[in-house]
Amino acid sequence: MKEKICEVHKIVRKPMKIPIRYGLFEVDAELNEARQILFPYAFTFVSGGCEIQDDEEPTEFVCEECRKDEAGWRALTK
Ligand SMILES: [Zn+2]
Repeated sequence: MKEKICEVHKIVRKPMKIPIRYGLFEVDAELNEARQILFPYAFTFVSGGCEIQDDEEPTEFVCEECRKDEAGWRALTK
């Protein structure tokens, strides 16, 4: 299998289970935009919509640097 690389941080992304978050929450346009450009592979959670399903947690390829950047971004914009 080919390694999955984060094109922002140039490091290998690792497969991790991502928690599903249910319910409606505010769409943060600024966060969404930053996410696409600055930390596309943070995958802090997956939106599961409003209905609870018993799906297994999905696996995504996570970039640890993206996660750090998202945390830093959140801290800055609070
Ligand atoms: Zn990254």
